[in-house]
Amino acid sequence: MLHIVVCIKQVPDSREIRIDPKNNTLIRQGVPSIVNFYDLHGMEEALKIKEKYGARITVVTMGPPPAEKSLKECISLGADEAVLVTDRGFAGADTLATSYVLGKTLQKVAETWGPIDIVFCGKQTLDGDTGQVGPGLACRLDLEQLTYVVKVENVDIEKRRIRVHRLMEDGVEVVETSFPVLLTALKELNKVRRAPLPGMLKAARFKPTVWTTADFPDLERAKIGLKGSPTIVSRTWVPEIRKANTQMIPEGSSEDTAKALVEKLLSGELPKKLGWAEPTAASIGGAK
Ligand SMILES: Cc1cc2nc3c(=O)[nH]c(=O)nc-3n(C[C@H](O)[C@H](O)[C@H](O)COP(=O)(O)OP(=O)(O)OC[C@H]3O[C@@H](n4cnc5c(N)ncnc54)[C@H](O)[C@@H]3O)c2cc1C
Repeated sequence: MLHIVVCIKQVPDSREIRIDPKNNTLIRQGVPSIVNFYDLHGMEEALKIKEKYGARITVVTMGPPPAEKSLKECISLGADEAVLVTDRGFAGADTLATSYVLGKTLQKVAETWGPIDIVFCGKQTLDGDTGQVGPGLACRLDLEQLTYVVKVENVDIEKRRIRVHRLMEDGVEVVETSFPVLLTALKELNKVRRAPLPGMLKAARFKPTVWTTADFPDLERAKIGLKGSPTIVSRTWVPEIRKANTQMIPEGSSEDTAKALVEKLLSGELPKKLGWAEPTAASIGGAK
């Protein structure tokens, strides 16, 4: 049977986030935590593959103890196992240290529940937002990697291959590769389902497997947590909000609208308000 691992991160709900104007840091107090939404799209795709071909789904997170709630949410959706990797020694990890610990975790998951065929990560998180952990993890475990996935077209269980659509800047790329593979999910991949009632009941009773540093005897201490994190955040700031002056051009035919727009531009009204150099008929293509 296929073994799919979904990597999830618990993040503060970005719709509720405010910035402390004194020190430019996120005010996390009182902000609800949610599963990073790209990760839920990875979870949904894992469930669709499970329904079609049969699979065991293990969901994994590295984070503080309250991240257990996010794992339970995935259990309610249909995951079979959940692993929380937590320890003060892991705290303060940047993406290098995170991918190192997750790499060790996935090796242990494979030893415990069987070899892994497919790993899903989100494209990026709503808080850290780097998009580095998925590719970093694929490199550490020497997995094939398919990023920016918007469609899983086919899974060939016999040949152990997968064909997906990747969203590129100038179109969609259709690519195929062999297991084991790591995919990073975009929100266009699918529509995330709601948890069914039996799933919620199962999740309420479920206790995730918890692994700490003690469960990884061969872990190199210099590669985890703050010590193993070379990233330095030298400065943070809140971008200045600039007020835009919006004017509506009355509804009309496209010719009338274009004429009204050109007249406005030529009148110098808009450029003055926006602080642009005043356009001339020549600078906007010789309009009359
Ligand atoms: C005790 C403890 C406390 C922590 N506290 C914080 C904190 O306060 N703030 C914070 O941002 N991070 C915290 N972390 C987690 C860790 O530092 C970040 O996960 C890491 O830096 C990820 O960077 P990113 O958000 O840019 O990920 P990205 O590279 O943007 O993430 C891409 C994808 O990788 C996967 N992924 C990323 N992080 C994890 C993870 N931790 N577990 C499983 N899958 C993951 C997800 O699928 C995600 O969609 C903590 C970890 C521990 C153990």
